[in-house]
Amino acid sequence: MSRRRNRDRTCDPRLVRPMLYRLSYPPVYKTAHCFVEYNEMILLSIKEKSKIINHAKRETPYECCGIIAGVDARITEIYEIKNLPSDDPRIAELKIPEDRTVRYMMDPKEQFQALRNMRERNLTMMGIYHSHPHSQAFPSATDVRLAFYPNVFYLIISLAETVPSLRAFFIVDQKITEEKIEIIETRS
Ligand SMILES: [Zn+2]
Repeated sequence: MSRRRNRDRTCDPRLVRPMLYRLSYPPVYKTAHCFVEYNEMILLSIKEKSKIINHAKRETPYECCGIIAGVDARITEIYEIKNLPSDDPRIAELKIPEDRTVRYMMDPKEQFQALRNMRERNLTMMGIYHSHPHSQAFPSATDVRLAFYPNVFYLIISLAETVPSLRAFFIVDQKITEEKIEIIETRS
């Protein structure tokens, strides 16, 4: 059976606990609107694309990170989340590389607020984004190792070239599959 047909909106507790370590610590999964409903394609407006790229640029030389939410395939909200600094005790606790220029770890408090906001507005968490200030928009070995969410896509923004690039992936069982992003005009 294909990965697509296998998708299930329910939260398997065996998956949820390890998955949330990437997103935050301590886990806040009980509050989460889990997880993405599978979409054939990701629809990203020019406005939201710019918002993500601007966030990445502002945080350089550090990686930026955040959550992408929406309805169906359409991304409607970008939540910018603070990338925890190297001296945060949770970094050592979770054996995450200290250097924020090559990794991200979301601030759990801000993540909690984003998840609550999503729930109130009936939005679905669709993806997690982060930036690669100096490397290509492709999951690093660390990204793959710590990709615990099979049901959200990982959007990576690269600032390595003059023109920033965005690519989206599903990472399931260490296997990377690229997902198509369609850039659309904003109607508002
Ligand atoms: Zn990365």
